[in-house]
Amino acid sequence: MIICHIKKDLRPILDDLRSKNKSLGFVPTMGALHKGHLSLIKQGLHENSKVVVSVFVNPTQFDNASDLEKYPRNLDSDLQLLETLSDDIIVYAPSAEDIYDGAIISENFDFDGLENQMEGKFRKGHFDGVGTVVKRLFEIVKPDVAYFGEKDFQQLRIIQKLVEKYDIPVKIKGCEIFRADDGLAMSSRNERLTQSGRDAAPFIYQTLKAAKKRFGMESAQKVTAWVEKEFKNHDALVLEYFTIADEATLETVTKKSSLKSYRAFIAVFVGDIRLIDNIALN
Ligand code: AMP
Repeated sequence: MIICHIKKDLRPILDDLRSKNKSLGFVPTMGALHKGHLSLIKQGLHENSKVVVSVFVNPTQFDNASDLEKYPRNLDSDLQLLETLSDDIIVYAPSAEDIYDGAIISENFDFDGLENQMEGKFRKGHFDGVGTVVKRLFEIVKPDVAYFGEKDFQQLRIIQKLVEKYDIPVKIKGCEIFRADDGLAMSSRNERLTQSGRDAAPFIYQTLKAAKKRFGMESAQKVTAWVEKEFKNHDALVLEYFTIADEATLETVTKKSSLKSYRAFIAVFVGDIRLIDNIALN
């Protein structure tokens, strides 16, 4: 496994691979790697000669300084984990200076409204930060294929839009959500849950599954009201939002159509830890 901390070291390695026509996969991460990340990396390794895994906690996508500060960072254990996985991994673990080349600020993007829904409403500037760092990483790595988890479905849709709008020559692949045995979506933030928070958290996916069942028979508004009531009755979990949206536009559903694909999206606080999840409905 090769580890680079600066793009100057990464470039000749990637240029050499390209000159040999080796296909290059890319998995951008913020580290604190778990089985969800590994499922993306494994898919990348299966489909490409080499996979670049970036490990970078991007400051510009955090609207909350304490969330950024508390975000788990375990580069040594991340490297150990990747080492056991494959020799065909190239890790890029840069500093903010190496990525941003100057002022650490976001570009402003227009993602045709995708950025204004859900996470965009509750985390101001989040998707400008995501767009900025991913665009920059694509310029540095120039991958053939990049893998993104459906765990962050809105992010996945926004990256698809970014690539389309800026004509970036990379194929974007969405990967299924990897869950713990009790259904909780794997997340780096789960590490910070207390035992009682961890015990309570599977309720999020249980509720999503129940909402999916109800959506077969009831309107989106009725299902939403039911989910909101379920969380009002819960001691340990505070609902930030639950929305049933059109997968293409991410706009909240007002009237169901059999021609469209829908997904339910949720954000929940477990103490001060914010978890998100989603489920395909049809
Ligand atoms: P993060 O390190 O949280 O920024 O995530 C890096 C990538 O891994 C993103 O594309 C995420 O959507 C993806 N990812 C995170 N958790 C999961 C999961 N439980 N299942 C599938 N993909 C995930």
